[in-house]
Amino acid sequence: MAQNLKCDFCSAPKVSKSYACEDFTPEDMPISLSVGGWAACDICAGLIDSDQFEVLAERSTRTFLASLGLPDSGQFKAEILGFMRRLHQEFNRCRLKVN
Ligand SMILES: [Zn+2]
Repeated sequence: MAQNLKCDFCSAPKVSKSYACEDFTPEDMPISLSVGGWAACDICAGLIDSDQFEVLAERSTRTFLASLGLPDSGQFKAEILGFMRRLHQEFNRCRLKVN
């Protein structure tokens, strides 16, 4: 596993697991390309492994908004939550092709 990573889902500084994943380009998303594996902290890995993607999307949204100093509510939150759901769905689909 690569060093000095942070969790790709919630940005926690401690990564405990990495998931092999095919490269993909999300549609209608503000990032252009996901390349290679995804790193996850203990908590996010637990959510992925138990298929709790809704909880994972909420968690990613909360930590993302907090990192920008934005409130965890309102229209912007709803948009980010929708984005996280689609992103994680795509991640899940692409990682299953690899493993
Ligand atoms: Zn995490």
